[in-house]
Amino acid sequence: MTALHVILFGMFGLAVGSFLNVCIYRLPRRESVNWPASHCTACNRPLGWYENVPLVSWLALRGRCRTCQQPISPMYPIVEAITGVVFLTAYEMYGLSPLLAVRIAFACAMIVLFAIDLRHRILPNVITVPGIVVGFAAALWLPPGWQSSLIGLAVGGGVLFVIGEVYYRTRGVEGMGMGDVKMLAMIGAFLGWPLMLLTLILASFSGAIFGVAMIVSGRGGAKAALPFGTFLAVGALVSAAAGQPIVDWYLGFYR
Ligand SMILES: [Zn+2]
Repeated sequence: MTALHVILFGMFGLAVGSFLNVCIYRLPRRESVNWPASHCTACNRPLGWYENVPLVSWLALRGRCRTCQQPISPMYPIVEAITGVVFLTAYEMYGLSPLLAVRIAFACAMIVLFAIDLRHRILPNVITVPGIVVGFAAALWLPPGWQSSLIGLAVGGGVLFVIGEVYYRTRGVEGMGMGDVKMLAMIGAFLGWPLMLLTLILASFSGAIFGVAMIVSGRGGAKAALPFGTFLAVGALVSAAAGQPIVDWYLGFYR
C-alpha cells in the first residue's frame, strides 16, 4: 500500500464516518438519512460545506456552532476518526477484495450500533435484521463460509435469547433485550461462530469489569451500567481485527 493509497483510503473512511454520524443522529429519531442536508442540531441552521469537513471542521470550530455557540458533541469527530482507522486496518488485512467491502460494511454497522445503544439504549431493527441476512448471504461465497455463519447466527441469537428468558423468569426484570439477541445473531452471521463466541466473551468480561468499576467508584449501581450492545460492538470489532489467531490457537490446542 503506497502512501497515496493510505491517505486516499483514510480520507474515504473519514467521509464515511461523517455519514455514520448522520445515521447515528437520525435513525433513532426516524428521520431520513439523506434529507434534509446537515444542519446544526441546536439552531437548525444548514451547515456550509466547510463546516462539514470530517475532523477538521470540529477542530477548527473548537467544538461549537458558529452562530448559536452551542457545543457540538465530541462524538462526531471520534466516530469519524474511528471509521478512518477501521478503513485503514481493513485495507491492510484484506487488500482490495470483496471481503474488504463486506467487513467494512459490518464494522460501520457496529460503530452505528455502538453509538445509538450508548445514547438511546436501543439497537434499531433497521440495522440488525438486514445485517443478519447480508452477513449470511456474503458467507455463501466468502469467509467464514455458510456453515460457520449459520451456526454463528443461530447460536449467537439463541444464547442471548435463553439468557434473557432465564434472567426474566428468575429476576422478573428484562436483562437482555431482543435488540442484543438480533445483534449477536448478526455478528455470528458475518464473523462465524468461533469469532461470535469470542465477541460474547470479550463483551461479557469488559461489561462486568466496567460495571464493577462503576459500583466501586460510587458512580451508580448496576442500573447505571452501559448497555450491552455497546460492549458487543467493541468485542466484535476487536474479534474481527485480532481474534482469528486466538481462535486458531484455541481450536488447535484442543484438537
Ligand atoms: Zn447552531
